[in-house]
Amino acid sequence: MNFPKDVALDAMSVQLLQLLEGYDPAAARLMAAEAERQATTLELIASENHVSMQVMHAAGSWLTNKYAEGYPGKRYYGGCEFHDGIEDLARERAKQLFGCRFANVQPHSGANANTATFMAMCEPGDTILSLPIKSGGHLSHGLKVNFSGTFYKIAEYDLDATTELLDYDAIATVARACKPKMIICGYSAYSRVIDFARFRAIADEVGAFLMADIAHIAGLVAAGVHPSPFPHAHVVTTTTHKTLRGPRGGLILTNDEEIAKKIDRKVFPGTQGGPLMHIIGAKAIAFGEALKPEFTVYCQQVVKNASALAAGLVKRGYRLCSGGTDNHLMLVDLRARDANLTGANAEKWLETAGIIVNKNGIPNDPRPPVATSGLRLGTPALTTRGLKEADMELVANWIDRVLGSSGDAATVTAVRAEVRAFCLKFPLFH
Ligand SMILES: *Cc1c(COP(=O)(O)O)cnc(C)c1O
Repeated sequence: MNFPKDVALDAMSVQLLQLLEGYDPAAARLMAAEAERQATTLELIASENHVSMQVMHAAGSWLTNKYAEGYPGKRYYGGCEFHDGIEDLARERAKQLFGCRFANVQPHSGANANTATFMAMCEPGDTILSLPIKSGGHLSHGLKVNFSGTFYKIAEYDLDATTELLDYDAIATVARACKPKMIICGYSAYSRVIDFARFRAIADEVGAFLMADIAHIAGLVAAGVHPSPFPHAHVVTTTTHKTLRGPRGGLILTNDEEIAKKIDRKVFPGTQGGPLMHIIGAKAIAFGEALKPEFTVYCQQVVKNASALAAGLVKRGYRLCSGGTDNHLMLVDLRARDANLTGANAEKWLETAGIIVNKNGIPNDPRPPVATSGLRLGTPALTTRGLKEADMELVANWIDRVLGSSGDAATVTAVRAEVRAFCLKFPLFH
């Protein structure tokens, strides 16, 4: 395997690539290239992270071989003895992590967790109140082309146009007018603290359920770095692969026994068949990691790094939507730095320089989603690699050199070399 000598790989990954080398060279080449890409680039996509080697290899284990439709003790297939144990371990740890009474660890993804939750809480045609995707919401919260927007009547609340913050009085006004069956809070691109108690008060006033989708902030919530949606939300959904730093997957939580029963029925058989037991095994291990004190320190550092990166960008002339960040992410308005700069160009130039980001619409963005005026940046992955506040100044500087040069080839090439050398000092696993 001609894997670059300067890139450190863990022993099991080396074995895997060697195993594949003669067996399936096409797949081996692509997997080795991706391992090298991750090791030599700066990952600033706010929804991504690097799992531990234990979680990563558990996700590729014997557990993938089993059908385990149903739930522990109530399976539709024989041979589930140890799968019951694995799923119970994941459920118990999830409950402990979030301080709640019921957990369903089977959703294949965050969107699947939301699908099952919609089906458990609402009838088709019911009104659901949510923040639209263009303002930082998620497509599974009611986008027209999505399941959610197809089968439910979606009412929208929006951010305050000036402050770009949630305006709870305005949300209450919309809720009184549309009388929703369920209100959704929790977002994909909101950099501020969510007041779950305030949302619950609005829900109670209009007789709605409150659903909190903490896909982005789940790790911060588990670590106590962001307020918990419990006891306020009737139901909480999340992914397990963002700040929570587990395998790619979903999770649904509640304190209400009746809701828990409905959720279980709507996950299986309502929306899914057999659970991904290898992923549930990896979830159990990741939840175990998140219960350790080190994870709290990690999440605190994620937030400190986001603040430092935000300060570094503001110093260089960028504007942050809502004026800053309280969590792991920030939404950068590029127009303040350069009126002609689009998110699409910024994403492309930065990728060439080894800095991985995603373009993102900003509130009331005049540009279409294929261009956008913004970037969404997050620090969960860089913090996992061990970067600290002082390193964020370097990252802000690299970003600004690339964008300030409008993607000038010589500048991008120079930054790429510096980024690669820097990344090699921070192996993916340590
Ligand atoms: C990422 C995200 C999801 C969906 O997660 P997938 O695993 O990609 O389906 C759902 N809700 C919010 C708010 C998200 O940010």
